[in-house]
Amino acid sequence: MKDRVSGLELIGQYAGLSTNFGHTVVTDLTGASVFAERARFPGHGVIVMGCVDQQPTPARALIKDIDDWAELQRAIEGVIALCGAAFVETDMRAHRNPTRMRTIKRATLDLVRRFRSLCPICERPGFAITKRLSGLPCSWCGGPTLALKADVYSCEGCGYREERPVKAATADPGQCGECNP
Ligand SMILES: [Zn+2]
Ligand SMILES: [Zn+2]
Repeated sequence: MKDRVSGLELIGQYAGLSTNFGHTVVTDLTGASVFAERARFPGHGVIVMGCVDQQPTPARALIKDIDDWAELQRAIEGVIALCGAAFVETDMRAHRNPTRMRTIKRATLDLVRRFRSLCPICERPGFAITKRLSGLPCSWCGGPTLALKADVYSCEGCGYREERPVKAATADPGQCGECNP
């Protein structure tokens, strides 16, 4: 999930004030209203998602096409009741975001796509690290160590999983239980 967050920040810098892309985690209606106003809701759409550990959790709740403040309030209250917090983000689908339609160029769109970390199979946003695998081989004895071997990315939508190995091929013997107990 870190990738997703830093990606959003990068987009913010890149696209500057010409876009209203952003997100926030709220635990009450006031926070949601402040964000929505800044995002120029209801002229611009916002999406409300479930939220666990400060991260968007669309598998718990995902509410799009919110047309007015009453609907937004219902969505926020429902999600907070369910998760304790709600993840709110501006809706970047073009028909819900006139700013985007007017100003974002193709390069920015590519960035958005890349950094929103979509599932390569079903394209659901939030394809992220859900597990870290240890067991990188020791550079002396070749046995498994406590060092990180790979990150596991997975999609909450379709269940697709992908292991991405770390750059290092071997671990320092200091992390090996055999060589350095
Ligand atoms: Zn997927
Ligand atoms: Zn070893």
